[in-house]
Amino acid sequence: MLSSRESLTTPAQLRCIECGRTWVFDRERWRLKVLDEEPRETVPYCPDCAHQEFDE
Ligand SMILES: [Zn+2]
Repeated sequence: MLSSRESLTTPAQLRCIECGRTWVFDRERWRLKVLDEEPRETVPYCPDCAHQEFDE
């Protein structure tokens, strides 16, 4: 019974909007970018893509 309940409560995983990889390491610093559009959307970036996207 517990196992079926666990599968239902698995939180949605973050997935990088750029490269598509999922967030598996707690210690990684992912960044969230709020799109300036309607509807407002928050998109996650993995550290690598965030570096390319935000740091120049
Ligand atoms: Zn990425």
